Amino acid sequence: LSNRLEDPSLLLSSAFIGGIWHTRSSANKTFDVVNPSTGKVLATLPDMGIKETRTAIDIAHRAQIDWAGRTGKERAGILRNWFDLMVSNADDLGAILTAEMGKPLTEAVGEILYGASFIEWFAEEAKRVYGDVIPGHQPDKRIVVLKQPVGVVASITPWNFPNAMIARKVGPALAVGCAFVAKPAQQTPLSALAMALLAERAGVPSGLFSVIPSTSSSKIGQEFCANEKIRKLTFTGSTEVGRILMRQSADQIMKTSMELGGNAPFIVFDDADLDAAVEGAMISKYRNNGQTCVCANRIYVQAGVYEAFAEKLVTAVEKIKVGDGYTEGVTAGPLIDEAALVKVRALVADAASKGARIVTGGARHALGGTFYQPTVLTNITPDMALAQEEIFGPVAPLFKFDTVEDVINQANDTIFGLASYFYARDLSKVWQVAEALEYGMVGVNTGLISTEVAPFGGVKQSGQGREGSKYGTEDYLEMKYICMGDI
Ligand code: ADP
Repeated sequence: LSNRLEDPSLLLSSAFIGGIWHTRSSANKTFDVVNPSTGKVLATLPDMGIKETRTAIDIAHRAQIDWAGRTGKERAGILRNWFDLMVSNADDLGAILTAEMGKPLTEAVGEILYGASFIEWFAEEAKRVYGDVIPGHQPDKRIVVLKQPVGVVASITPWNFPNAMIARKVGPALAVGCAFVAKPAQQTPLSALAMALLAERAGVPSGLFSVIPSTSSSKIGQEFCANEKIRKLTFTGSTEVGRILMRQSADQIMKTSMELGGNAPFIVFDDADLDAAVEGAMISKYRNNGQTCVCANRIYVQAGVYEAFAEKLVTAVEKIKVGDGYTEGVTAGPLIDEAALVKVRALVADAASKGARIVTGGARHALGGTFYQPTVLTNITPDMALAQEEIFGPVAPLFKFDTVEDVINQANDTIFGLASYFYARDLSKVWQVAEALEYGMVGVNTGLISTEVAPFGGVKQSGQGREGSKYGTEDYLEMKYICMGDI
């Protein structure tokens, strides 16, 4: 991997704790980071535990005080440097990301630029953390509302976007004056470490941003929740783990942001532009090989266009080129690990046993490993497990529906409420459906909704809090009301 990099120093096998790089020779335990495409070991990292986590938190706690005291403009300038470095090193960061996660290189570089856009956006927002002046309730009273940083933020992130999931959190946290301690996914710590190195080069003060590579995620999660110096936990991952972390954080009444699982409906109405709907479905379903929390999980197609849509979708899906992320022209990589493959196979087998028709794909890919064929299933019924569970793989199940009411009921019949999509042209239907979908995000005639300028987040058991947009700093701020008397 280092041969591919213009700047090989970005490939790190250390932990970054309180401003100090800890090499693996200083650790009792180590763990390997493996390329999911080849099975080869990319790096061996020190496996950090509670002791190092506490050190990172203590140092972050001290560093935060000075950082919060600086002007928004000064913090903005440093974040802007960091953004510039991420962009100028995007090819190297993308190559590291592809190696540890498997997504095609163009998608990986795209993720780096997407992640960087949050650093840029929140650098700009750093100067706009406005409070309020409220007319007093008595003649001698004056009321002011301040917005202040929560303090030290702990973050736990998944492997599917090793850069962007951290960027979306660390950007607003640092912008408003918080310190940040990150526990990246065990499968993908290299992107996080490269980000930390660039942050250091950009002038982010020592100790303000730590990265703790570890295999002991539940222990570190417990420490994050129990340590009184942590004032906020921000998590992206499964609803199952989100529930555990919310329970744990209750002891401290800790502020939390939760970006959890989804079960996105993607609805195609009779009046939709079918070619546009297929294009949207391809992006929404197969991007990142189906491994995103906003991926279309259930595709509902109105009866009148069901056959035509299925045919067009299959034609597009059969053009997907599966392979190693570094190979030119490849549009889908492997699944992240064996457990992911087992899950996708089980969901397809369950659907097939209950009457689903496999129109294309439906099996492991000839490349072996954790590669899986891009798949389309028809004749889907609500009793199949994939109607309720997040597939997290390249499998599109097509449900048939008749009426608007019918599809809204089915679309909302889930514990999740993250992303939803639909294609239609009738204006009143567009409004009705957009309002009726119980989701935090609705894409209308588009399959791609993520951007730093909009609030990303879910309702129901998909989480709480929003990332990105002018609302994205709120999760990292406390409100303080000052009442001045005897004026
Ligand atoms: P995924 O299926 O995307 O891996 P998880 O919710 O299992 O989703 O993992 C997301 C992140 O949460 C990862 O960084 C993982 O290490 C971490 N994690 C998993 N279990 C726990 C736990 N009990 N406490 C804290 N973090 C956890």
